[in-house]
Amino acid sequence: MKIVDFHCDALSKLWEDSKLSFEQSTELDVTLQSMNKGKVGLQVFAIFLSEQYGRASFERVMAQIDIFRSRLIHTGHLEWLKWSNQVEDVRNGEKRWGLISLEGMDGLEGNLHYVRLCYELGVRFMGLTWNHANWAADGVMEKRGGGLTNQGRSAIQLCNELGILLDVSHLSVAGFWELAELTTKPLIASHSNVFEVCPHPRNLNDEQIRAIIAMDGRIGLTFVPWFIKRDTHPVKPEDLLPHIERICTLGGAEHLMFGSDFDGIDEWVEGLENPGRYQAFTEMLLKYYPEQLVRGWMSGNALDFLGEHLPEQPDKQKI
Ligand SMILES: [Zn+2]
Repeated sequence: MKIVDFHCDALSKLWEDSKLSFEQSTELDVTLQSMNKGKVGLQVFAIFLSEQYGRASFERVMAQIDIFRSRLIHTGHLEWLKWSNQVEDVRNGEKRWGLISLEGMDGLEGNLHYVRLCYELGVRFMGLTWNHANWAADGVMEKRGGGLTNQGRSAIQLCNELGILLDVSHLSVAGFWELAELTTKPLIASHSNVFEVCPHPRNLNDEQIRAIIAMDGRIGLTFVPWFIKRDTHPVKPEDLLPHIERICTLGGAEHLMFGSDFDGIDEWVEGLENPGRYQAFTEMLLKYYPEQLVRGWMSGNALDFLGEHLPEQPDKQKI
């Protein structure tokens, strides 16, 4: 069964260590080999600027876009998904595709020209923050729990105009509600679970889940063990079932998808350590749910959303 995964941090690891091979590497979860094994038809690659390397800058954003372009696309490993008219090829073809997202606007340095440039360079989703506060908004771990800044509001309006979709994973609860009020496009939570099932601040509460469903947005359940189950280890793939069930109960069976956070974690769900495990995970889900639903979660819901909300490819003359 074809898989779409809405979040991984492989680009950040490839940036940290230029000797890593995307084709095959024991230090990467997401490789061409593991994508092929797990039948991942589309992987979203986040640009994540780790705080351990100092100030977030646009230079570092561009470096990761260049790694995606030169080492994943120009090598012929992946096709680059940027436009709505490509989505049917992702759905029906055999190729592997990649799409770029930005995990937090820190590296845009408060500069709206950089938002535009990111769009031109193929970035199609943006989260406002990682866990902490930045020029655009407060992240979910920022104690004061503030919402959006004025600059953040301008960035959101620009993203809506350009066709960059907004990702609420990592955003503060106050920021979430201000963004939900302001955005003209449905929101994505690319890698978050259900707070009601596992009360971690990175997870979404029922009101947030209902709001995303009401605007026909999408929620990518994630494989971060401590967002799935508290205190008890190891965490098993079956431990995701209560999260799935809760989202379905809230009316989100057609809004559910997966965003693994592979390469962003150093502890894994037992039996779900890399994209190569996706087919076994699918088999497990098929024991509990009908095939039509599982197909939706593994790829259909995500692709329907992308077909509707990715920008239309402009005429060649205009480029
Ligand atoms: Zn993250």
